[in-house]
Amino acid sequence: MTSFRGAALCSWIPWILSITSPWCIQLIHGFHGFHGSFARRVELHVHLDGSMDSTDLFDICKNRGLELPGIGVPQSSSDVKHFVEGFSGWHRFDAVNEILGGDVKSIQLAAEAFVGFQAKSGVQYTEVRYDPVRLSHSKLANMSISEEDAVRAVQEGLRVGSVRHQVAVYQILCAMRGSSPQQCFNTANLALKLSSQDMGGVVGLDLAGDETDFPNAAYIDCMRHAKHAGLNVTVHSGEFNTTQADDVRSAVFSMHADRVGHGYAAAQDPQLLIELRQRGVHLEACPNSALRHGPWALKAIKSFKNQVLFGLNTDDPAPLFGNTTAEADEAIVEGLNFSREDIHGAYEAAFRARFGARDVTSLMTSLAEGASLHV
Ligand SMILES: [Zn+2]
Repeated sequence: MTSFRGAALCSWIPWILSITSPWCIQLIHGFHGFHGSFARRVELHVHLDGSMDSTDLFDICKNRGLELPGIGVPQSSSDVKHFVEGFSGWHRFDAVNEILGGDVKSIQLAAEAFVGFQAKSGVQYTEVRYDPVRLSHSKLANMSISEEDAVRAVQEGLRVGSVRHQVAVYQILCAMRGSSPQQCFNTANLALKLSSQDMGGVVGLDLAGDETDFPNAAYIDCMRHAKHAGLNVTVHSGEFNTTQADDVRSAVFSMHADRVGHGYAAAQDPQLLIELRQRGVHLEACPNSALRHGPWALKAIKSFKNQVLFGLNTDDPAPLFGNTTAEADEAIVEGLNFSREDIHGAYEAAFRARFGARDVTSLMTSLAEGASLHV
């Protein structure tokens, strides 16, 4: 417990204070030096359902005695993998949510497993996002809970995971494109109600989903409402080759997004890149999913270097989805002539653009209190 407190304190101090403890200096050196494969990573754009691997899902199936259609009671993680891989596209995320959804204990386990997943990748600060509407029910289990209970269950799982794995973690609620504007307002108001800087707490609102068929216009009032009410706001925008720089422009200038998920279409407009930089907008680049969108998206990330503020993120890292890691993403951008210093700079930019723990002193206190109270 004592060593955890020390580790939590030391690991955050590089950004905040100067200290002289040799032990802490060793940790700081590990971050700044990127010696060997060791790196401290900051990840702001990662989806809860897209981070669940089949082993975690199998554990949850066992815990809740869930039967899978066509399989029955799964006997192994391979059975779960077979079930989820039977779905394609967006439906695969639905399959995961059917396993997790509508049950407080299952959601807590999933959130805790997420933190373990991030810890294995060397991520030390992270914000995870999900749709609370989708997570609050499961037709497969014939169960539902309130969206508020789902969010509280995620917070508890994240808090427990943060203590166990020494990762600082917060959550962002996703309003979904394709849902009604009124539903977007409902999710924004839930985020406002449960907004908290406690470990695992809600620190922002995202707009996610199918950007091609459901563009920004219908959701501008909702996202403006969220921002004016005091929420941090990020918007998935400019991700697909069907999108335009103007989509990113409206996310930032009409919706008042603090950060943009992906934002690759912004690279089509050099003047917009200048405006994003001047406004201090952070782009959440996701190299592995950009790779799947095609060379244009990777070229966009390359153009972000030295032009805009951006970070590196895995998006949907579990093998069931993207099969990537933070390390693999770094390898992709190294192929774009990013140096280790460039990668380090991207993580530092992400830390500065975080929604959680503006007050790092209370972050450290929260970690320490969690350690002493619950471990
Ligand atoms: Zn995303």
